[in-house]
Amino acid sequence: MNPRRRSIPIKIGRVTVGGNAPVVVQSMTNTDTRNVVSTIGQIRELEDCGCEIVRVAVPDIEAARAIRAIKKGINIPIIADIHFDYRLALEALEAGCDGLRLNPGNIGEPARVAAVARAAKGKSVPIRIGVNAGSLPRAEDAGATIGQRMVAAALEQIKLLESLDFNLIKVSLKAFDVPTTIEAYQEIAQKVDYPLHIGITEAGTPRGGIIRSAVGIGTLLYQGIGDTIRVSLTAHPREEVIAAYEILKSLDLREHGPILVSCPSCGRTEVDIIRLAEAVEQELLKITKPIKVAVMGCAVNGPGEAKDADVGIACGKGKAILFKKGEKIGVVDEVDCVRVLMAEVDKL
Ligand code: SF4
Repeated sequence: MNPRRRSIPIKIGRVTVGGNAPVVVQSMTNTDTRNVVSTIGQIRELEDCGCEIVRVAVPDIEAARAIRAIKKGINIPIIADIHFDYRLALEALEAGCDGLRLNPGNIGEPARVAAVARAAKGKSVPIRIGVNAGSLPRAEDAGATIGQRMVAAALEQIKLLESLDFNLIKVSLKAFDVPTTIEAYQEIAQKVDYPLHIGITEAGTPRGGIIRSAVGIGTLLYQGIGDTIRVSLTAHPREEVIAAYEILKSLDLREHGPILVSCPSCGRTEVDIIRLAEAVEQELLKITKPIKVAVMGCAVNGPGEAKDADVGIACGKGKAILFKKGEKIGVVDEVDCVRVLMAEVDKL
């Protein structure tokens, strides 16, 4: 795994993004931001799953103003997502947003961009420049790839903010196409020192979307690129947070709750291993400690194959061996094995 790319750290509220800070997990609400009660409710649910920064859509002035009340009910920093109307950015800043996501080139004449940059700088609020492959300006270089055009668009926006003496910048370059996204981030990573927010946009429903995101985000993180991530899914945003941590845990970049090791549906199993693993997975959702738990399909190979698990079960016919770090510590009836396993987890 490559060493982490050096980026200039910025603060979104009290959360550091970039530098040596851990890779931060973000998501976005799907509530109507003007509905303060339901937006606070969803953000709290996301906080419980480990979301560290949340973004809300700001389609109008009422939504921008709602941020003031929303902030009172939540504990994580909030980013206002602005499209085109600079007045919404100013209002969101006034309401206390911790970050803005907007493209300065989309909000019109230079005086408007300057007004937003001045207000954001005055409040030390960073701006994320978010380039999407689907909304690129016309290519100046006819031979440029989509990834190169995304980088050029981002550099243009960066230049605009820098010319206003604004450098609390974070950058994202998202595409649905995974190789395009990787190419774009690799290139921008060499050109600027700003922290990078990475993700695959419109990645789809969880089945395909998590895989696309894991391949794209995972490849970049493995190369040391990425300071904050969002797994964009057509699903409840809690699924985005859970998936984001699974990606980070798989690369040993973050610890967050248990890791479940379970056998494939192997021909040696004499139990319903799929049902058992799902039952344990469900129980583990309540655990926050970073432990490794194994659900193995046979007693002969199971304890050895999962010897680095803190605790596990290896199932035979009607019985299961309970083991810790590969050592047998008891035998239980299959019907009791989830309960007994969870009791051992609780002891840890
Ligand atoms: Fe198959 Fe047993 Fe290995 Fe699991 S531990 S994959 S059931 S041989």
